[in-house]
Amino acid sequence: MNLILMGAPGAGKGTQSEKISTKWNIPAVSTGDMLRAAIREGSELGQTAKGYMDAGQLVPDSVVIGIIKEYLASDVCKNGFILDGFPRSIPQAEALEEMGVKIDKVLSIEVKDETIIERMSGRRVCSGCGASYHVKYNPSEKENVCDKCGKSLYIRDDDAADTVKKRLDTYHSQTEPLKAFYEKKGVLVCVEGQEKVEDTTALVFAALEA
Ligand code: ADP
Ligand code: ZN
Repeated sequence: MNLILMGAPGAGKGTQSEKISTKWNIPAVSTGDMLRAAIREGSELGQTAKGYMDAGQLVPDSVVIGIIKEYLASDVCKNGFILDGFPRSIPQAEALEEMGVKIDKVLSIEVKDETIIERMSGRRVCSGCGASYHVKYNPSEKENVCDKCGKSLYIRDDDAADTVKKRLDTYHSQTEPLKAFYEKKGVLVCVEGQEKVEDTTALVFAALEA
């Protein structure tokens, strides 16, 4: 199964893609995670990306297309994959088509902007492995400590309130048009994001099994 997960920043793509990955045993790949890993490593790619990310803008298409291309061509993806956060613009979706990648389903998790803004203030990310938590909706067992690797949690620079607003604008103007793009191809499914993670997961699984 080749899957794309869409949704506004903070809609819960990362959390749901992990659940799908476990259940269907296919890798989940997040371009956001890849870019943050590049920033932690201090690579040139990371330095380029950071400026755009902190400003709530998309990293240039050529940069993300390059990293995703390499990943999709690798062996881990041969039985399918879940793309979380890619494509995020029409040119990125077109690039995916040009790579000859067939997409079976595009799942969009719908969450209202007001809810997003409230949620983002509680998001925490692991400094070691990049795992994502939420102080209220998905807390780690020990405060500020990652359940998976024991490293400390931090607040993403781009989760600052005014950056979140910019990211939402970017989402509506550049990413949301992809819904019509995939609707036309008959592969779009929309799911209403719920307050509880497991309730959204149930809807997501139902949509994928349908
Ligand atoms: P969220 O979905 O919560 O915004 P991500 O981790 O997916 O978080 O993305 C964080 C930032 O990384 C984005 O705001 C953007 O700057 C950059 N980014 C991630 N994926 C892409 C992409 N496919 N194209 C361009 N920029 C991207
Ligand atoms: Zn961790």
